[in-house]
Amino acid sequence: MPNSYRPDQIIRPEILALSAYHVPPATGMIKLDAMENPYPLPSVLRDEIARLTANAPVNRYPDASAASLKAALRQALAVSDEMDILLGNGSDEIIQIIAMAVARPGAILMSVEPAFVMFRMIATFANIQYAGVPLKKDFSLDLEAMLAAIEKHKPAVIFLAYPNNPTGNLFDAGAILSIIQATPGIVVVDEAYHAFADASLIDQLSQYPNLLLMRTLSKLGLAGLRLGLLVGRPEWIMQLEKMRLPYNVGIMTQLIAEKVLHHTDVLLEQAETIKSERTKMNTYLGTIKGVEVFPSDANFILFRIHKASQIFQALKQRKILIKNLDGTHPLLENCLRVTVGTSDENSQFCETLHTLLSETV
Ligand code: PMP
Repeated sequence: MPNSYRPDQIIRPEILALSAYHVPPATGMIKLDAMENPYPLPSVLRDEIARLTANAPVNRYPDASAASLKAALRQALAVSDEMDILLGNGSDEIIQIIAMAVARPGAILMSVEPAFVMFRMIATFANIQYAGVPLKKDFSLDLEAMLAAIEKHKPAVIFLAYPNNPTGNLFDAGAILSIIQATPGIVVVDEAYHAFADASLIDQLSQYPNLLLMRTLSKLGLAGLRLGLLVGRPEWIMQLEKMRLPYNVGIMTQLIAEKVLHHTDVLLEQAETIKSERTKMNTYLGTIKGVEVFPSDANFILFRIHKASQIFQALKQRKILIKNLDGTHPLLENCLRVTVGTSDENSQFCETLHTLLSETV
């Protein structure tokens, strides 16, 4: 037998250098780390889903084009007839499809910093060069820096989350439109948190041929199903569609998502509750001395606090899991991100944080 290779002899060096996306164990914890909707579906709807899935032909591959689900999405999201839809196993997969599709030698994938970490990670997976343009200190877009970076790099694609993760704010829509007009490549506006913001660029699709709009059902209450979508002109979607693996959206996801989409009012009501909880939490956090709260149009709140990593660990010991962003980017020094949960979960988080702060003073 010939000498076999070790991983470091055949895996690409940039993959060897990566750390895997860390998902911390959360059993028994109050889980406020992953922007999930904390509410279950109503029991009537769950019963309907149970019947539907009991009869699902799981011995067969799912509908590769997911035509019925797409029709439901088109209606629920009011997608115009001129636009096509690409489905992904979560929007993560769509980011990957786009990155792979544009990864010509020398191509650049651009985003802002700090942004959703998968933009950068997926660029590495797809072997495409990444350029991150820092946001301003208040987490707004630095339009001048963006325009200069576009001029320099001529990026194949720019990803902008609207609202942004992990900062929670909506960028100035006018600045995004200037970027779309200035760049020679495509701009993917990632509206993962759309349900919690009163803004969208979906109506701009017909105006700008290089704009693509991404959504997900994850934050709305269906994170476990894994369904993301990209809306855009047929000439773009047609090319990306070639890279989509034939059965990337399973039968259970197709059946359940379609059923729930016929009851979007349920999810939107839950989103309204989350928004009013966000206001309460924001106000409360703002009253705590030593806490700097950033405004949020998403279902999470970013805040800065003295000794953030210590506070994060202390919360974890008390079975409250949030996200520690301290050390991930200079603009996020001493920053923590908490997902808006149920009223009870939020009270427990706020009270525990308050107690911890009074103990450490
Ligand atoms: N985009 C943004 C901005 C996100 O924050 C997330 C999830 N954290 C995603 C996309 C991915 O969502 P999913 O793969 O669950 O659709």
